[in-house]
Amino acid sequence: MITPTLFKQEAERSGGSGGARSKVALAHNIHLDMLEGDIALVTFDHPTKSANIFDARTLVELEVALKAVTRLRAKGLVFMSSKPTIFIAGADLEALATYGEEELDHLIRKGQEIFQSVAELKIPTVAAINGACLGGGLELSLACDVRIATDDKSTKVGLPETMLGILPAWGGSTRLPRLVGLPTALDLILGGKQLTAKHALKLGVVDRVVPKERLREVALETVAKTLPDRKSNFLTNNPLSAAAIRKIVEKKTLDRSRGNYPALEESIEVVTRGGFGSIAESLEREREAVLRLSATEAAKNLMRVFRLQEWAKKFRYDTAVNPRELEPITSTAVIGAGVMGSGIAQWFAARGMSVILRDIDEGRVAAGFKSVKRLFDSAVKKRIFTSHDAMRRMDLVAPSATPVSLAGCDLVVEAAVEDLAIKKTIFADLCERSSEKTILATNTSALPISELCEAPGVTHPERIVGLHFFNPVSRMKLVEIVVTEHTSPEVVESMLAFVRKIGKLPVVVKDSPGFLVNRILMPYLIEAGKLVDRGYKPEVIDEAMLNFGMPMGPVRLLDEVGLDVAAHVGGTMREAFGDRFELPSVLTSLIKNGRLGRKTGHGFYEYEKGKALRDRSFAHPPEQMTRPEIASYLVNLMVDEARLCLKEGVVKTADEIDLAMILGTGFAPFRGGPMAFAGDTKTV
Ligand code: NAD
Repeated sequence: MITPTLFKQEAERSGGSGGARSKVALAHNIHLDMLEGDIALVTFDHPTKSANIFDARTLVELEVALKAVTRLRAKGLVFMSSKPTIFIAGADLEALATYGEEELDHLIRKGQEIFQSVAELKIPTVAAINGACLGGGLELSLACDVRIATDDKSTKVGLPETMLGILPAWGGSTRLPRLVGLPTALDLILGGKQLTAKHALKLGVVDRVVPKERLREVALETVAKTLPDRKSNFLTNNPLSAAAIRKIVEKKTLDRSRGNYPALEESIEVVTRGGFGSIAESLEREREAVLRLSATEAAKNLMRVFRLQEWAKKFRYDTAVNPRELEPITSTAVIGAGVMGSGIAQWFAARGMSVILRDIDEGRVAAGFKSVKRLFDSAVKKRIFTSHDAMRRMDLVAPSATPVSLAGCDLVVEAAVEDLAIKKTIFADLCERSSEKTILATNTSALPISELCEAPGVTHPERIVGLHFFNPVSRMKLVEIVVTEHTSPEVVESMLAFVRKIGKLPVVVKDSPGFLVNRILMPYLIEAGKLVDRGYKPEVIDEAMLNFGMPMGPVRLLDEVGLDVAAHVGGTMREAFGDRFELPSVLTSLIKNGRLGRKTGHGFYEYEKGKALRDRSFAHPPEQMTRPEIASYLVNLMVDEARLCLKEGVVKTADEIDLAMILGTGFAPFRGGPMAFAGDTKTV
């Protein structure tokens, strides 16, 4: 914890080293070097972590280093990091979670004071940014005169605090609007956006972009020059314009957040007032707002979700398995080139994996390959890849309409139609074609994987596993790794490493119908249909759940998934778990009339150019439950099913359920997931 005594430490001199004229204050997380021309270089270099973060100790050391810079009469100051992909990743969230109000207040004041002292230095200051420069990292950079970033892929610049239910309170809500103008600052802070260096340059968040190899040299050249003239943002940053902007942004934000994210409302208030006038007063508003926000349930839940995601990046299934002994996965095949197969193949190729994309005839393979191309085109549009890069990666996809040998594949993912008999035949064939070391995975939504392991012709069931991606693959972060009694721990560990390597987050679940996410979601969707049976309008049910914080109402979601697909999954679950999965009659009759949801242009709603319109064919008696009552009724069905999953050991902890439901269905993150909502959670 930060204590005032720690802050009283003084810098100690020590001997010179390398290219530096002298090394001063040889500290723990920060090095201070005095270079030729009396330029001070502060290097962030956490000795034990792969990331630099602003923990209490780093702040203390920074204060000490700054005092030394003044005492040594440096003529310029440069901040850098010695980590290959991180400048400063933000504040220490693990520690923040343990702070009481007083400690938090002290930390905020201290950070503000130290960054203000950087801003007040009478010498030029430069932030030389390579890698993630987020939260406190960017706030320190904003206190500098100049920001230079590298064009490296790892360089990301942003203030993501609102995503955690708080706001930038070390000067970010004050200095960003002054630098880039109110509208841009609001857009970046409210969206918690992380910009590439090129984008940051365009918006004026950084002043220059250089290759990684030249960063130090350019930073040292820059700090020796006179300061640049800054663009004035007077047109937007004045009391009159700010009030008008505040009104517009408030309305737009509330329409989307439905008042569920207090951090957005507080940020609008603080940022629109922070773009002009007294810095000290604005910092005070930042501090008061962040203390208020930190005490909210939303912030506590969002920070917990962040920590759970960090946990998902590193947890082990079986520590007896040595990860270094696992075969790397570079060569893959995907069986079935439909919606999911093409999405999975594109994602693998985008991450540098070679992929055989197989379907039963040329037409289907061609359609699948076209979808892969569409996904790459969209990635180019979003500037994720250059067109050259996208083309190179698309070359990794080898379409195949005829059976080919899969002996050279490390992993085969089956994503054919949801039919157990077909999947059994496919798996027997895969066993013939692959090597016994090839991991065979299925993307089934709900079918029992153990039955695939035991099907005739299937050999080495220890390498069979579920790898359940969510739709659309490119947007959904979660992958359920489904483990049967046969699956070997090496295969599970290998899948954990693979899922993380391709940028997704895993949960490990026991093989059981519907696994985890679909199992919990299904009773909620079914009951929403039954409410329609009982005379509730689809839009009233959907509205109730949007108010609760879901990204989409359950009736719309049924239309999106496809009513036939939902009925199929529901049928599998009913066979396993009985009547609580019985389908609503409206679903059966819509399917009978060919209304399968958005894909056919009609479902519960009518669709025009993909947009949902109200369907007037549902004529209804007055509703009995209010919207909040509908929400509570439907969410509690998810809670009940989640509790059953935990009891049956589908997953080990309530935390995994919350993480999976948030990442797999968009369950209102500020509510922390169904288990946190029900008050059933412990931390991992
Ligand atoms: P889809 O109907 O779009 O595609 C299935 C493809 O498999 C078709 O192109 C079909 O020709 C092909 N196929 C059928 N038999 C084959 C065989 N013997 N060999 C090779 N290809 C064969 O289906 P989808 O939505 O992509 O679903 C695929 C799987 O993924 C299913 O098990 C489904 O439950 C699961 N899943 C679907 C979603 C979703 O939202 N669509 C989400 C998660 C998981």
